Amino acid sequence: MSSFKRLADAGDLTGKTALVRVDFNVPMENGLVTDDTRLRAAVDTVQTLRTQGAKVALLAHFGRPKGERVAEMSLAPVAGAFGKVLGSNVSFIADCKGDHVKAAIEKLEPAGVILLENTRYYAGEEKGDPELAKEIAELGDIYVNDAFSAAHRKHVSTAVLASLLPAYAGVNMEAELDALDKALGTPERPVLAVVGGAKVSSKIDLLKNLVTKVDSLAIGGGMANTFLFAQGVDIGGSLAERDMAETAREIMAEAEAKGCELLLPQDVVVATEVKPGVETRTVLAREEIGEDEKILDAGPLTVERLVKAMALSRTLIWNGPLGVFEVPPFDAATVKAAQAAGQLATSGAITAVAGGGDTVSALNHAGVVDQMTFVSTAGGAFLEWMEGKPLPGVEALRA
Ligand code: AMP
Repeated sequence: MSSFKRLADAGDLTGKTALVRVDFNVPMENGLVTDDTRLRAAVDTVQTLRTQGAKVALLAHFGRPKGERVAEMSLAPVAGAFGKVLGSNVSFIADCKGDHVKAAIEKLEPAGVILLENTRYYAGEEKGDPELAKEIAELGDIYVNDAFSAAHRKHVSTAVLASLLPAYAGVNMEAELDALDKALGTPERPVLAVVGGAKVSSKIDLLKNLVTKVDSLAIGGGMANTFLFAQGVDIGGSLAERDMAETAREIMAEAEAKGCELLLPQDVVVATEVKPGVETRTVLAREEIGEDEKILDAGPLTVERLVKAMALSRTLIWNGPLGVFEVPPFDAATVKAAQAAGQLATSGAITAVAGGGDTVSALNHAGVVDQMTFVSTAGGAFLEWMEGKPLPGVEALRA
């Protein structure tokens, strides 16, 4: 279990105010929240704190106002929406600091909840400004961070406040950090990583970190084309970053040096265009591919070997689809592999953790999000964690 301060360590909070960083960066249209997933996710932490006797002052960012008061990026409409989800009144104040904010918090009844304005209305937020941090810290007695998705930022509300107040991970942050630790920190071996998606260039650090940590690494999607090209395979008109061939070769050499088994596609599905139901050919990766043909999915042999590798592992970590999963039939490999992972995780045979970018929608498409051990909806933070980088928001909570 990774070591950080948890809400359970906070004890009795009667009469205290908890400043709670949440992820309320919700999709909104005409002032209405169109998807309340993130609001629902905050309920556990808020209720836990209220049960422990605390008042709750919520801090969140919304959009990118870059230090300006941009009216469309006010969190005002979110207070009512969160109140509905919580089943309690949630008040709102259009600032994050000052005596009037302190007075509004004091006026709250016991276990009352208030949402403060968009933290990014203040230029100091994204700079991690210690002065702004001091002013915000004056509003509360403890700080709770429940926004893993923003933990890769060293902002006032995501990290700096933790140095000024007793700081704890919220319920979601705790679940996320425990799951991530189980996947890469202190995993049960063997560990298999599956990395797919479009480009090598956006995942170089991630691949370089994984080859030092996992026992096997399966590469799929467009980025596998770059690796095949780097091995001298004719990839026809496939999407690939041909200028990244040297980087791909470096990663392959590093994998070999570290004893990490690399699984590249053995067979692939090709077509001349990316269109639903288009005519396809399944060919061995080393067979000739026409100039007008593109590799758009992994083939059945590749999936079969991947599923076997999953069954032989104890831990699976997954980021990125194995093909153009948005356009059937090029979703076949991703769906089949995801369903196998879901079954293995449900039966308790493996710990399966997935996340980052398009991975959540790919797993949703395969209908297995609920079967995985843990699916992270955090994009950038999840990827930086997979890259092995320390996340300022997490480091600030270390016990
Ligand atoms: P990423 O955001 O890097 O995880 O990339 C996800 C995108 O990669 C998805 O939109 C897929 O359609 C795309 N992708 C996966 N495999 C291929 C492929 N063989 N050719 C082109 N695009 C692909």
